[in-house]
Amino acid sequence: MSTYDVVVVGGGNAALCAALAARERGARVLLLEKAPEAQRGGNSFFTAGGFRCAHDGLEDLRKDVIPDLSAGEAASVDIPPYTEANFYDDLMRMTESLADPDLADVLVAQSRPTVVWMRSHGIRWILMLARQSYKVGDQHRFWGGLAVEAVGGGPGLVQVLYERAVALGIEVRYETKATRLVLDDRGAIRGVVCRGPEGFTEIAARAVVLACGGFEANPEWRTRYLGKDWELARVRGTRHNTGDGIRMALEIGAQPYGHWSSCHAVAWDLNAPPFGDRKVGDLFQKHSYPLGIVVNLRGERFLDEGADYRNYTYAKYGREILKQPQRAAFQIFDQKVVAILREEYRIREVTKAEAGTIEELARKLEIDPEGLVRTVSEFNAAVQPGEFNPAILDGKGTKGIAPPKSNWALPLDSPPFVGYGVTCGITFTFGGLRITTRAEVLDTEDRPIAGLYAAGELVGGLFYHNYPGGSGLMGGAVFGKLAGESAASLR
Ligand SMILES: Cc1cc2nc3c(=O)[nH]c(=O)nc-3n(C[C@H](O)[C@H](O)[C@H](O)COP(=O)(O)OP(=O)(O)OC[C@H]3O[C@@H](n4cnc5c(N)ncnc54)[C@H](O)[C@@H]3O)c2cc1C
Repeated sequence: MSTYDVVVVGGGNAALCAALAARERGARVLLLEKAPEAQRGGNSFFTAGGFRCAHDGLEDLRKDVIPDLSAGEAASVDIPPYTEANFYDDLMRMTESLADPDLADVLVAQSRPTVVWMRSHGIRWILMLARQSYKVGDQHRFWGGLAVEAVGGGPGLVQVLYERAVALGIEVRYETKATRLVLDDRGAIRGVVCRGPEGFTEIAARAVVLACGGFEANPEWRTRYLGKDWELARVRGTRHNTGDGIRMALEIGAQPYGHWSSCHAVAWDLNAPPFGDRKVGDLFQKHSYPLGIVVNLRGERFLDEGADYRNYTYAKYGREILKQPQRAAFQIFDQKVVAILREEYRIREVTKAEAGTIEELARKLEIDPEGLVRTVSEFNAAVQPGEFNPAILDGKGTKGIAPPKSNWALPLDSPPFVGYGVTCGITFTFGGLRITTRAEVLDTEDRPIAGLYAAGELVGGLFYHNYPGGSGLMGGAVFGKLAGESAASLR
């Protein structure tokens, strides 16, 4: 039986950051990935690679995050500072002030240093121009606190992190699923049991880092914790995040923490497959709804499409769609905005209809025509004057309808009209394990379980109700790095 200093369970961003940080400190590290090599990388693979980090504006980012940005490129963008205080406030605003303040402090303060650290491991950062800015005049104006993405998006991120792990001598075992944590007589971690292609093995380790995702791909747990109909949601990413790490830790007395009955869920193509498709990636999402209206099969609106910037509403609107008849919704736009819809509206695998009239569009999408015609005419009549500007909260809203549209309200009056069918796609779950600011897993009596660390989706306490876009990867990297450092320090 070989002994490792640190066994990392999981094969996504949080796990790889933990493995690299532990290896940097000289630890002998083994990484267990449940998925076969061709499916490695968890949800991290499916992302755009967007990381929310605090910064003091473009010039600050140019110092050590994106130093290769040319002067010409820099002149064409406007990125307001996104300070640690902004990030902290957004996190608290999104979570109804429920986010654990100590964990939130660490996430925010360590976000920028961690992005720089990842660069030292080969991750190249670029600006998220296409998804996080609108062109106003000659300039790309960033609007939602999220400025940088890894080159190559999620697939690029995962590839670079694995290449680096292997180059540094981290051992990786694919198709190897951790099934149980092993304790010594003192209750400290002694290793982990896993199931690989050859069957069950016990691996001895001084420390174990759990970074194997939430329970979003487990329909039974979704129904148990999120509630009715959640077994019917589509899973946006990997099929391998079935709550194994949470279960293993709870079995040895770890403390459940966070918002167990909530999750991150978005508008996702109505005909998307049950799990993520690695070729389509995140493009089944439909995130331009602030530019139009969203209705259900009855043709009724049911949410405020312009309540806030997309980054601050999209993660909670999947839940609203799940509550609608047949879990279906339709995003309706006219020609005034079609040119600025995001790239995902132009893929081949899209549920879309186009028509010269609202009534015809309704028939094509199988929405109640009378309902949609009534909704659109009431909506158009309620639109208030003002200047439309998608790069700011323009306050151009509606009056006298419920729900209101608070920003970016334009009448639907320029045919042909286009509509896109969406359902609820679950991203990841919010409930999980309780950790300290050093990523130690706490037991139900608030004591660290010796040798056990956790990072990424399976950590509870950071996200409640809602989520600021780009925080999942950032949180996984920050606490993954800390978990690896703490685990290595046990030697
Ligand atoms: C379509 C999509 C787009 C997204 N876009 C973004 C974005 O742009 N920015 C952002 O911040 N977040 C984004 N997210 C959220 C983001 O993916 C997650 O927050 C983040 O990737 C989680 O990282 P992780 O390492 O905790 O989990 P994962 O990356 O999911 O990794 C978990 C790993 O654990 C493995 N595993 C599971 N069980 C076991 C076991 N028993 N033994 C061994 N291994 C196991 C899995 O195979 C997987 O490799 C997106 C998610 C999706 C699905």
